Amino acid sequence: METYDLIVIGAGPGGYVCAFRAAQLGLGKIALIDKRATLGGTCLNVGCIPSKALLASSEHVVFAKKHAAEHGLKIAGLEVDLPAMLKKKESIVAKMTSGLAALAKARKVTVISGEARFLDAKTLAIGDKKLGAANIVVATGSAPVELPFLKFDGERIVSSTEALSFSAVPQKLAVVGGGAIGLELGLVWARLGAEVTVVEFLPQIGGPVADADIVRQYTRLLQAQGLKIEVGAKVTGWEKGTLHAERDGKPLRFAADKVLVSVGRRPFTDSLGLDKAGVALTPSGRIQVDAQLRSSVPHIRAIGDVVDGPMLAHKAEEDGAAVAEWIAGKGGHINWDLMPAIIYTDPELATVGLGEDAAKKAGRKVKVGKFNFAANARAHANDGAEGFVKIIADAETDQLLGAQILGKNAGELISEVVTHMEYHGSAEDLARTIHAHPTMSEAVKEAALAVGKSALH
Ligand code: FAD
Repeated sequence: METYDLIVIGAGPGGYVCAFRAAQLGLGKIALIDKRATLGGTCLNVGCIPSKALLASSEHVVFAKKHAAEHGLKIAGLEVDLPAMLKKKESIVAKMTSGLAALAKARKVTVISGEARFLDAKTLAIGDKKLGAANIVVATGSAPVELPFLKFDGERIVSSTEALSFSAVPQKLAVVGGGAIGLELGLVWARLGAEVTVVEFLPQIGGPVADADIVRQYTRLLQAQGLKIEVGAKVTGWEKGTLHAERDGKPLRFAADKVLVSVGRRPFTDSLGLDKAGVALTPSGRIQVDAQLRSSVPHIRAIGDVVDGPMLAHKAEEDGAAVAEWIAGKGGHINWDLMPAIIYTDPELATVGLGEDAAKKAGRKVKVGKFNFAANARAHANDGAEGFVKIIADAETDQLLGAQILGKNAGELISEVVTHMEYHGSAEDLARTIHAHPTMSEAVKEAALAVGKSALH
C-alpha cells in the first residue's frame, strides 16, 4: 500500500488549491486524485472557464454585428465559424489544465488518475491499488441536478456540459432555470442565433440575492438582447419538441429542439463509499463539517461544492487553502459572509453581502447609495453605459454591508467593495479612496458618496 501524509480527492479549484497550499507548507507527501484525465475539475473543464470563453467569443459577434459600425468599422461578409469558436474555448481549457499539471509537478504533488473510494477511514482504493493517508480531504464537487420528468439524454435534454459544446446552433433552445449557468449559456446561444426562452420557477431570474430594482433592469437588458424570459413558470415535462410548463394553473408551451436543464447542482459523493469511512452527510446530502471543515471523522475534511455554502469556485479555493493551513496547524481564514457572486452576462450582475431588500426585510436600518453608469464617461466609451452601482451601508455606523452592481465588468468592479468590507470599511472610506479617472470604478466611488448624499455627478 502506498502511503501519503495528505490525499486530496478531486482536483477542482478546491482540491488542487488545497494540495498546492499543503505542498507550500511542507505537509509532506501529497497525492491529488481525479477521475478526470485533466486537472481543474468542473470549473476549468466544463464550468467557469469554457463558459467565459464562449461568452467572450459570442460577445465579439454582437460587437461585430451591432456596434462595430458606430465605432467606424465596416465589417463585410461576417460569418460565425462555430467549430473555430469551440476550438478556441478548448485550447484555453487545454492551456490551463496543462498549466496546472506543470504546477503540480513543480510542487512535487503526485497526481493520480482514477476514481477513489474509501475502504475504511484511513484507506482508499483506486481500482486494485490501495492508498493510505494520515489526512484526507474530500473535494469531489458537484453534478448537475436532473429533473425526474426531464431526464438528461445528452442530445435533446442536456446539462451545461453538453451546452458548452453544441456542434450546431440550436434553432430553439429552452433553458430551464434562470440562475447564473442558465443565463450565461442561454445568452451565448442567443447571440449565436438561437431563439432562447428561459423558464424560471421563482418570480425573478438571477437568484434570490439580487434586489428587485437591479433584477428589473437586468431582465429588461437581457430581453433587449433577444432572451425570452418567463418567470413564475413551473416546468412539468417535455414532449415531441415542446416544453410543457404552467403558471397559476394555466398551461404554457414552448417549442424547443434542445432543452438545457440548469436548475442547480447537487453535491457529488457517488461511489465514494463515505459510509465505509463513517463520514456523516447533512439532510441535503452534503458532507457534514465543523467550522474547520472537519467531517464527523476528524482526519477527513471536506471542501468546496460538496459541503454547505454557495457552489462557487472561489469559495472552493478559499476552503482548500484554509484546510491546508489548518492541517499544518496554522490559522486558516475564510469569511464565508463575504462571498461575491457574479453572473457573467453583458451586463454582468455582481452581488456581495447584504442587499437592500434583504436588509429591509430583516428590519435593519440601512443607507443606500446608487450611481448610474450613464453618468460615467468611461462607461460610454466602453459601450457600458447601462446599469448602476448600489452600495448598502449601516444607517448608524456607515459600515459597508453589501454592494450590487449591474454593468460591464461588474465582477471586476465589486472586488474593491469586497476588500473594503474585509477590513470593515465604511461607505465614507470607499468614497474617500482615490479612483483613477476615467474608469468605470469611479461609479463605485460615486455610489459610496451617494450613501452620504454627496455624489458629484
Ligand atoms: P469540482 O470543480 O466539481 O471538482 C471536483 C472533482 O472531483 C472533479 O474533477 C471530479 O472528476 C472529481 N471527483 C469526483 N469524485 C471523485 C472520485 N471518487 N475520485 C476521484 N475524483 C473524483 N463558479 C464560479 O465561481 N464562477 C463561475 O463563473 C462559474 N461558472 C460555472 C459554469 C458552469 C457551466 C458550471 C457547471 C459551474 C460553474 N461554476 C462557477 C461553479 C464551479 O465550477 C464550482 O463551484 C467549482 O468547480 C467547485 O469546485 P470543487 O473543487 O468543489 O469541485
